[in-house]
Amino acid sequence: PANANLDWKKAPCRFCGVGCGVLIGTENGKAIAVKGDPKSPVNKGLCCVKGYHSIMALYGSDRLTHPLVKKNGRYVQTTMDEALDLVASKMKETIAAHGKDSVSIYGSGQWTIPDGYVASKLFKGCIGTNNVEANARLCMATAVTGFLSSFGLDEPMGCYEDIDHADTFVLWGNNMAEMHPVLFSRLLDQRMKRGVKIIDLATRTTRTSMAADKSIIFNPQTDLAIANAICYEIIANGWMNKSFVDEHCRFSKGLTNMGYGLEDNYAFTDKPEGISFEDYKDFLEDYSPEKVSNLTGVSVKDLKYLAAHFGDPNKKVMSLWCMGMNQHSRGTWINNLVYNIHLLTGKISSPGNSPFSLTGQPSACGTVREVGTLTHKLPHGVVANKEHREFAAKIWGVPVENIDPKPTYHTVEMFRALDRGDIRFMWIQVTNPMVTMPKLKRYRDGAKKEGRFIVVSDVYPTPTTDIADVILPSAMWVEREGLYGNSERRTQHFEQMLEPPGEAISDTLQLIEVAKRLGYEKQFGYKEDTHIAEIYNEYRRHHEGKKHNLAPLEVLKSQSGALWPYVDGKETKWRYNSTYDPACSNGKDFHFYGNKDGKAVIWQRPYEPAAEEPDADYPFWLGTGRVVEHWHTGSMTRRIPVLHQSMPHSYVELHPKDADRMQIKTGDKVKLTTRRGEITLPASVNERGVPAPMQVFVPFFDESMLINDITLDSFCPISKEPDYKKCAVKVEKV
Ligand code: SF4
Repeated sequence: PANANLDWKKAPCRFCGVGCGVLIGTENGKAIAVKGDPKSPVNKGLCCVKGYHSIMALYGSDRLTHPLVKKNGRYVQTTMDEALDLVASKMKETIAAHGKDSVSIYGSGQWTIPDGYVASKLFKGCIGTNNVEANARLCMATAVTGFLSSFGLDEPMGCYEDIDHADTFVLWGNNMAEMHPVLFSRLLDQRMKRGVKIIDLATRTTRTSMAADKSIIFNPQTDLAIANAICYEIIANGWMNKSFVDEHCRFSKGLTNMGYGLEDNYAFTDKPEGISFEDYKDFLEDYSPEKVSNLTGVSVKDLKYLAAHFGDPNKKVMSLWCMGMNQHSRGTWINNLVYNIHLLTGKISSPGNSPFSLTGQPSACGTVREVGTLTHKLPHGVVANKEHREFAAKIWGVPVENIDPKPTYHTVEMFRALDRGDIRFMWIQVTNPMVTMPKLKRYRDGAKKEGRFIVVSDVYPTPTTDIADVILPSAMWVEREGLYGNSERRTQHFEQMLEPPGEAISDTLQLIEVAKRLGYEKQFGYKEDTHIAEIYNEYRRHHEGKKHNLAPLEVLKSQSGALWPYVDGKETKWRYNSTYDPACSNGKDFHFYGNKDGKAVIWQRPYEPAAEEPDADYPFWLGTGRVVEHWHTGSMTRRIPVLHQSMPHSYVELHPKDADRMQIKTGDKVKLTTRRGEITLPASVNERGVPAPMQVFVPFFDESMLINDITLDSFCPISKEPDYKKCAVKVEKV
């Protein structure tokens, strides 16, 4: 009642990819209350600790409020106009001296849709460089190549409503209880109501394992063999849905390393090759539960138990995954393999039967995947495709020759190019690569070299602003108008509710202002008070049609977002299923229209060892990840006192047996050494999570203990996404 007179407005939560709806109460120009939006179909009024404290992230005492320019090694305050002039003149100067591919932008899955769209239009459409990447390369690129190679189109076929229909949930290496907490609570709710089963398949015991009905711990990297064992069992026991497979699938092998743009077969080192069902069955002979039990560390009984859940014709199964599968040296393959299981059983694209790839960031889907802020992408399609280039150029109002058909650098390569000097100017927005890049020391040293000019747009000082020549203060979340797209294809709008502090302006406006200074007034002539609506309406044109139509802005303003494809005033909840999806046109019950023949691909994917494995010198596995209290690198959540106090610093989790043997107790200092360097952290034994013996786990949120200084920068050869979950490490008590 004390808040009865507040002005409450809806927004998607600023933090994770679940995309919960929140209501923000403002009074006298300040956000003073936040609660879950009961009308949101995502969270139905519930939030997690980050959501409930989200508005406090707006008011940290060290908010960046004025632009800062580095002069003689010190930051000097300047005006926004002068800072933007300097950014534009440095870009011009760099292009004149080193060519258009010497300038770059590195953004984020926390970019709003308009931010990413204008970045892509400026760099790809106007300047003519494909040096556009986003941090989603480090977390979701594999999900993209998994979807594209199996179905020809990105993003999940199902939606969160699958949770209300599934009987069994198999979690593939994702700690949902901490990373997608509100969604996990929906699983627990279904267990209370309907007695569904939750099976946690992981390399470490987490809060998710503790809440699951069954926890299965496997050896790192062997999920490839486990998925194949499930497929073996499905076929051996006659659980295959033969009519579905005959009608809607084909079998293939190959496509093991590639460049970019799957749709165009761009830069394949090997082409996909069709194989017969008999060939595929023969391949699986090496993956019977008996043959892979030792390798995986999973008993034959548990492998059969898992397979039986998928094989049971009376059970609907939902697979859920996130970074455990995506940050994987064969991430695209493990994504393909989980689709194989669902395709072989026909448990796909129908309520409750759903292989579902979760995202980490609030707009990894909406901005990075759909707007296409990756080097090879355009909002609709890929740069390598002439028709796609022509289509984008027409909407952008630029000559088609401006759009370079050749992708340049994926994220790791972009930072290598900065180190080498091939890139001389980098603009970093809404992300903190000087905490998150793997093998970080190399890239930090590279960014600091002479002759590099770095612009960083952010809301707080971070290790990334430390390397900046210009720091631009950004308007955060509801201090500006914007849109996000969450894990289930839901586009959500939020209006500006607050004035940003000092001279801060949105990343969208920063980019527009620089574009105008570069001479692109015509392409960026949006009006200040309507620019978000104008940009969204322009962006929607890229996705027109039954396969990806986005809801009109008025719809997004009036409700908690809408799923795309949004056709004839209706959301499409299950793609590729003709009962629900108006884009199906083959006259059959399912139509995988992303592939030319309308069929989904069942891939032959072998087990392959990790890029670096423990040995005599570095005998433990090291994996990294997140904790529920902190959003990514903690640059916002560490400014929320209650979250910071409950999780003040990072730590290294050890198995109790290893800790006993090495006489390590919780709080003792432990040195971790890899081939890249060393770091010392306090030990955590039997607290939040428990890794398997001879494994350690370290959260990456703490900028005072940079675990990424010692991680490995090897990546999936298809998606180019690094494997943060596996490298070899030596563990010593200090
Ligand atoms: Fe926000 Fe994610 Fe928590 Fe929902 S689950 S409140 S979206 S951080």
